[in-house]
Amino acid sequence: MKKNWLTHLCLATIFVFASCTKDEVLDAEPTTQDISEDFSSKALKPIGSGVMMQAFYWDVPAGGTWWNKVKNKAASWSNAGIDAIWLPPVSKAQNGAFSMGYDPFDYYDFGNYNQMGSTETRFGSKSELQSLITTAHNNGLSVIADIVINHNSGGDSEWNIFSNKNTYTDYNPKSNLFNRTQYDFHPNDYHSNDWGVFGGFADLCHHKTYVQDWLWNKSNSVAKYYKNTMKFDGWRFDYVKGFEPWVPKEFRNAVGGFAVGEYWDGNVNTLNWWVNEAQMSAFDFACYYKMRDAFVGNNLNALSGDMLWKRNASRAVTFVANHDTDEIYNNKLLAYAYILTHEGYPAIFYRDYEEWLDKNKMNNLIWIHNNLAGGSTTNLWTDNDEYIAKRNGGGGKNGLIVYINNSNSWQERWVETNWSSRTIKDYTGNSGWEPVTQGGRWVKIQAPPKGYTVWSLK
Ligand code: ZN
Ligand code: ZN
Ligand code: ZN
Repeated sequence: MKKNWLTHLCLATIFVFASCTKDEVLDAEPTTQDISEDFSSKALKPIGSGVMMQAFYWDVPAGGTWWNKVKNKAASWSNAGIDAIWLPPVSKAQNGAFSMGYDPFDYYDFGNYNQMGSTETRFGSKSELQSLITTAHNNGLSVIADIVINHNSGGDSEWNIFSNKNTYTDYNPKSNLFNRTQYDFHPNDYHSNDWGVFGGFADLCHHKTYVQDWLWNKSNSVAKYYKNTMKFDGWRFDYVKGFEPWVPKEFRNAVGGFAVGEYWDGNVNTLNWWVNEAQMSAFDFACYYKMRDAFVGNNLNALSGDMLWKRNASRAVTFVANHDTDEIYNNKLLAYAYILTHEGYPAIFYRDYEEWLDKNKMNNLIWIHNNLAGGSTTNLWTDNDEYIAKRNGGGGKNGLIVYINNSNSWQERWVETNWSSRTIKDYTGNSGWEPVTQGGRWVKIQAPPKGYTVWSLK
């Protein structure tokens, strides 16, 4: 939420025809489209095997071109090692063709109903969205929907018997699905409020059976429609501070899939409590703020602080920037070197990858994440301007040693590896050294000024 408002298919096909005759295929499946959807979804990369792409930023170009732009990047992102893309909220919002989607009005208008001043959303039409999702799937990419269910916007005014005034709580969307009234928002006949309201928006009451039915229980609920009809694979829940953790948990339980919540809080105890309650991942804001202190504050000792990935790596989505916050404006590549060599599921911000940073260096770090960064983490050295950590290997990956240097000169240090009498090299290409570890596994490595190296078996 914005705080300041305001050729997998080909392989699958080969597999089909190699394993059975054409007649069997046609008997088993009513249409060829069903076959391709079935097999392409089986070919999706496991989420977490690679890296997530946040496929938007605040105020991407309007005009209904964004879905096509993302679609055209799907193949190259997949080749680079991305395994999932996170899209902005896809349904029609109050600001129509200008909205980034976080003021949702009609959850079932994907740019196919003329309301709120336009038919298409800011990002495009429903068919363009579906084409993007199909293309992503054909490239092995999961597609994560941004689910905004704390608040709504754009209802008509009605006399509200709970507020004793007129409120904008009368929702009659053109889809004619999930119509809402004052009984579905706070205050109502159940209670006066939940955990959080957002900027004066109409605040949905998730305790109401009617709201639960439309969000996740009914066969055409938001959750089931997005999963089964729109073919989304995972969920990013917006502003989860606005309600209790059982809300996104129930939503996800209705449809399965990867899920991550935006619990915007740097307190690692709170984040860890939330992921355990909601039984899903959270963005690692603790890691984010410690990286800010380390890389902008020029004190790498901050990396010794507590982070969600250190407590609960399988539930931490690490990130360096997002559509709301971009405080790590210094040494940003060093921050990416950190999250792409450490535990947690890293998310890359569109502008960093496509516009602001060196794409070759980003691709190199993504490769290192996907191919070397396995196993637990051991810190080897931390001071104000140097940081060295070891991934101990596992899951078919050899592990690595990452050396981050925030000083203005080359640095060298002896470190204890897990390898005895083996040649290692720097997979970033920043150092040309190819040292041999001693019998006792020690070796001297180096890192360039304001740079990093990542060492593993040659
Ligand atoms: Zn409520
Ligand atoms: Zn709320
Ligand atoms: Zn130092």
